[in-house]
Amino acid sequence: MRRYRINEIFYSLQGEGAHTGRPAAFVRFSGCNLHCPFCDTDFRLRATLTADEILRQLQPHPARFVVLTGGEPALQADGALVDALHRAGYTIAIETNGTRPLPDGIDWVTLSPKEEGEVVLTRADELKVVYVGQDVERYADAIHAPVYYLQPCAREENGLAVDNREAVVDYCLHHPRWRLSLQTHKILHIR
Ligand code: SF4
Repeated sequence: MRRYRINEIFYSLQGEGAHTGRPAAFVRFSGCNLHCPFCDTDFRLRATLTADEILRQLQPHPARFVVLTGGEPALQADGALVDALHRAGYTIAIETNGTRPLPDGIDWVTLSPKEEGEVVLTRADELKVVYVGQDVERYADAIHAPVYYLQPCAREENGLAVDNREAVVDYCLHHPRWRLSLQTHKILHIR
């Protein structure tokens, strides 16, 4: 039986994008095909689980909304996992860098393209770009989505967490097809 490489499974509120504030179970897959300089995500391998074992860890949590994240979840998520989650009553969201095709049937796609890697997806339910001063219009022009989000890029300076939120606010004000997305889970100090 197929085993998926997993970093962690946890329950929290979705912190970013259109589903901000929605209770969700998160499945963080291990591994990524990109090497973004600002990446602060721990996606080391911590468990190899079958779809049934993933479901057993999800089901104690009351929400039936699951977010497949990473790392890059599209390296592993497949039709068998999508079917198993749907059979158990889950609505499935995925957070992907868009460089790999997705299995059919995912209910909500958050596409977060990065500087590195060629994006192969052309549609998403939301486009969410971490702003580092790059040309973000090329993403909005190439990818059809009902909503485009820009998110500040967090970093550490002299031991303090800082980000470029002023630059993002300014960009949105001057380019109004973009909306601000904040990492509200970090502001609230939750998962
Ligand atoms: S695509 Fe996401 S998980 Fe992968 S290296 Fe970049 S920021 Fe990290």
